[in-house]
Amino acid sequence: MENWSQLYKAANALEAHSVKGMLESEGIEVRLSGEGLGAAAGELPADVVEVTLWVAPAQLAVAKSFIEHYQTADRPEWHCQQCGEMNEGQFEICWQCGWENDSAD
Ligand SMILES: [Zn+2]
Repeated sequence: MENWSQLYKAANALEAHSVKGMLESEGIEVRLSGEGLGAAAGELPADVVEVTLWVAPAQLAVAKSFIEHYQTADRPEWHCQQCGEMNEGQFEICWQCGWENDSAD
């Protein structure tokens, strides 16, 4: 990660990809590290592996502002645990299968 600045540590790969997609939609290039460590170890499921997001130093400040917005947003997007569909944060029930997202608080 030479010449890249550490931006954010996501709790898991799903969050990392959610944040990465959010930043990329704002034109910010993001690299991930840490992903796949669990698979390599063969012990931990991928969703508990911490993933670090990196950005170019020139984009660090603006990227951080987006992260702050992400963290203070009412609700992030979420994946349905039943069918895997990505749902917008304002929805409490999966539009695909009707599963209720009771993990959001
Ligand atoms: Zn669903």
